[in-house]
Amino acid sequence: MKPFLSIFILFISFISSGQSFTLPELRFSYDAYEQGIDAKTMEIHHSKHHQGYVRKLNKAVSESKLENKSLEDLMMYASYRTRSVRNNAGGHYNHTLFWEILTPTIENSSPGIINNNLERAINKSFGSMENLRKELSNAAAKRFGSGWAWLVVTPNKELVVSSSPNQDNPIMDVSDVRGIPILGIDVWEHAYYLRYQNKRGDYLSAIWSLLDWGVVSKKYAAALNNPLLVKIEKENWPEINAFHKVLAQTFHAAEKGDFKPIRALSGSLYAKAILLQDADIPKPLMNPEVSLALIRLEKKCFSLNKLIVKNAKDKSLMKMISAVHDVFHEVQGLCHD
Ligand code: MN
Repeated sequence: MKPFLSIFILFISFISSGQSFTLPELRFSYDAYEQGIDAKTMEIHHSKHHQGYVRKLNKAVSESKLENKSLEDLMMYASYRTRSVRNNAGGHYNHTLFWEILTPTIENSSPGIINNNLERAINKSFGSMENLRKELSNAAAKRFGSGWAWLVVTPNKELVVSSSPNQDNPIMDVSDVRGIPILGIDVWEHAYYLRYQNKRGDYLSAIWSLLDWGVVSKKYAAALNNPLLVKIEKENWPEINAFHKVLAQTFHAAEKGDFKPIRALSGSLYAKAILLQDADIPKPLMNPEVSLALIRLEKKCFSLNKLIVKNAKDKSLMKMISAVHDVFHEVQGLCHD
């Protein structure tokens, strides 16, 4: 090996130590999609926009010291991430999916056809392929501003159509509809403006003719068996997240001797505990132990709130909020077994 080359490789491995995300190759050349999307749009979209998400994601991940997290993990807990991690993790994931499901109808491109399982699932959820097309186009057309339209496998293994703003997606804990997307349509203007200008509808018709249903079928099969689907179902418990947010704001301050947050928020914490106890427990977590622990959590929060109303001393507050914290971790322990 030439010395110059080995120094270069050493340099590359040094700057890329730790995880870094890279821009995936397109399956075909930029001009191969011409029938639906012009070459210039494909080129800018891939080499500038997607590349930008990758670059900014690597920067944001390193700034947040999240290099050891997978892309899925970065998205799963989007509500806890910085704006930049959330936007760019979504941007990278969403575009990677988009390139995979597009195929031109040129020689040798051999777009795959839909398999029986996916066809059956589509007919079950939407009645027909044509209805799915209408629902997806509708979701994409109605998405205000920038965003995506999705075909999603939900945790109960059904197919639904949804849409999300910006670079969010259904894997994220901020999404109304949760699940694994198997088909995504980019409705940012950068995806179609050069040829279609403001005519998003024309772009959507063109996209439909570029979809590779063989790839989507494979993605459907993979999503059904993806452990992420069970994880999403377990974590799809907004009431426990809401409780955790208030507890985090109050408990850690109290540990450091600052009781102002808990004195101000004990009513809110108690209210969140009541909502949590009344809420549906995610199916995989449903068991009597969790239910009993949630009742105990509510009682402890009630007592804590009573102490604060009576203007009790910091020492007794500390004891009670620690008890709340212990029961909360017991609940979480029961959930993560
Ligand atoms: Mn895009």
